Amino acid sequence: MIIKDVQVHYRNIPLLVPFKTALRQANEIDSIEVEITLDNGIKGTGAAAPTVVITGDSTESIMSVAAGPIKEALSGHDLRDFQEALKKVQRCCTGNTSAKAAADIALYDAYSKWLNIPLYAYLGGQKNLRTSMTIGVDTPEKMAWDAEKSVEAGFHLLKIKVGTYPEIDLERIEAVRRAVSPDVKLRLDANQAWEPKQAVQILQELEKKDFGIEFVEQPVRADDWEGLKFVTERTKLPVMADESLFSAKDALKLIAGRFADLINIKLMKCGGISEAWKIADIAEANGVKCMVGSMMEPSLSVAAAAHFAAAHPNVVYMDLDAPLWLSEEPDHLTYDGEDVLLSDQPGIGIVQPV
Ligand SMILES: [Mg+2]
Repeated sequence: MIIKDVQVHYRNIPLLVPFKTALRQANEIDSIEVEITLDNGIKGTGAAAPTVVITGDSTESIMSVAAGPIKEALSGHDLRDFQEALKKVQRCCTGNTSAKAAADIALYDAYSKWLNIPLYAYLGGQKNLRTSMTIGVDTPEKMAWDAEKSVEAGFHLLKIKVGTYPEIDLERIEAVRRAVSPDVKLRLDANQAWEPKQAVQILQELEKKDFGIEFVEQPVRADDWEGLKFVTERTKLPVMADESLFSAKDALKLIAGRFADLINIKLMKCGGISEAWKIADIAEANGVKCMVGSMMEPSLSVAAAAHFAAAHPNVVYMDLDAPLWLSEEPDHLTYDGEDVLLSDQPGIGIVQPV
C-alpha cells in the first residue's frame, strides 16, 4: 500500500455552449488529473479545474503544486495510514485548494478501491441525488428560453445566474418564472455582483411575489462578510454563502456570526472530501444545511463531490450539472434527467457508455 508514484496529466475540454455568470464567461475548461499509483498496482485518480477568479488557482499553479509539494508529501507513504495521507496533502503548502482537492480525491479513490467498495459506500451513504440545472446570465428572453429547454429535459430545480446589469435582474427572474410551471423551484446566484443595499431591495421585491425561490447564493462580494450579514438579516429568503466560504475554519466563523443561512461546499474551494466532510459536520451541529456544488469541472471531480453528497446527511441540496456542459460524455457518473447516478464499481468508478 506504498504510494510509489504521483503523475499529473492535463486536458482541455471545450464546453457545448458558453457558461456565463456575473464573474466570468467560460468557453472551455482545463482539467488537471492527479494519478497516484500504489505498489500493489492500485491506481487512484482525482481531478481539478482552475477557476482563478474564485480560488486564485490557475492551470499552471495546480500542475506545479501537484507535481511538487503534493508529490513529495505523498511519495513513499503507506496508504493504510489513510487519514495521515489526507493530512499530508492539506499541510504540504498553504492555499492551493484545487490541487489539494485533486490529490485528496485520488486518495479516496485509491483507498476505497483497496477496500473494493464504491466511494459512497466507504463514506457511508447512498441517498438519491437530484441536481439543479444552471441558467446562465443573459437577456430575460434567452434565460426564459433556456429555462424552458431545461424543464423539457427533466429538471425541476433551476439555478438562475443573475448580477450582470442588476437593474434587469427582476425582469430576468420574472421571465424565467413565467416560462416554467409552478412545480419548478428557482434558486438564484448573484456571484457577488450586488451591493448589500441593492441586494436587499431586489430580494424584498421578490419576497412580495410568489416566485417559488428556495434561496439566493452569494449576493455580495466574497470578502464582504458584513454585507452578507446585512442582507441575511433583511430578507426572508435564505441566503447561501458560496465564494465567501472556503474552509471548515471559515464555516465556524460564518455560522457563529450568523453571516448566512446556508453553505455551498465545493471541493475546489475547500481542498477535497476530507475538509468538505468537516464543513458539513460543523454546519450540521449548528442546524445549518449545506449544498454541494462544483465549478465548471470534469466529471471525475464532480463524481467525487456526488459520492460525498450521497453520503453526508447534512447535504440536502445538490448543484452538480457541470459535466452536462462539457463536449464529452461524463465517464464517472451519469444523468437521467435531473437524477445523478453513481457507478457501483470500487472507488469513484467508471460509467460504461450505453
Ligand atoms: Mg455559486
